[in-house]
Amino acid sequence: MAVASRIPVLMYHRIGTVENAWEGKYAITPERFAEHMHILAGSGYYACTASELVAWLQGERTLREGAVAITFDDGYAGVHEHGLPVLKALGWPAAMFLISDLLGGQDEWCRASNPAGRTYPLLTAGQISEMAQHGFSFYSHSRRHARLPEQSDIQLDDELAGSKAELETLLGQDVPYIAYPYGLHDERVLDRTRSAGYQAAFSVQPGFNRPGMDLFRIRRLDVFGTDTAAMLLRKVRLGSNDGSRMNVLRYYLGQLLARIGLKVGT
Ligand SMILES: [Zn+2]
Repeated sequence: MAVASRIPVLMYHRIGTVENAWEGKYAITPERFAEHMHILAGSGYYACTASELVAWLQGERTLREGAVAITFDDGYAGVHEHGLPVLKALGWPAAMFLISDLLGGQDEWCRASNPAGRTYPLLTAGQISEMAQHGFSFYSHSRRHARLPEQSDIQLDDELAGSKAELETLLGQDVPYIAYPYGLHDERVLDRTRSAGYQAAFSVQPGFNRPGMDLFRIRRLDVFGTDTAAMLLRKVRLGSNDGSRMNVLRYYLGQLLARIGLKVGT
């Protein structure tokens, strides 16, 4: 059995209608999300859980080749409606990062940036517990979707340890992972994340993950609503946010030149 040597982690946000170009960056239609999952399954990929990924990063276990971790940020209700049925049919797990103060609320932090000026609903505790029975694991995305590096020490601990404690009460189990809101983190945020008791953290830095890497900077590929299934597959194969055909050529040309001892700037 071939084993995984590098694992991509996909980052999705909302599944649902896409009203404008801004939303198209953070939301994907239900049809396209299903196409994404089906092209992965048809190409030999399968989803592993976040805890399998972390154990693999720590060298504590192997994973069969083709592993991909699927993550959703923010806790959108649309993932319950449109994502759960697709993943359930495939028997695939997924990880969701929740904003603990906004459960059952709306994505208020997006209102100012969305040109449509509208907001979308977030998961309720009932939807979360249903999803937890069907392969979803839930972790932290702070209490208020805070820009962590900008918080005072007290506020930062509240966002980190506070959301962990709130979610642990809700879920009745340990919440060992967090995804930094907006991917924002610095050395102080990393230190406080460790002291808050987290064992790993997910960033938005693109690239593959490999055993031995920093567990508090797990890389993720940003999946856009505008990514066709073919583009998604190219992102996963390249470990890049750029799923264009040109990037594939650049990648293989770079590998070829590296093999014969030349370097190419990208
Ligand atoms: Zn977020």
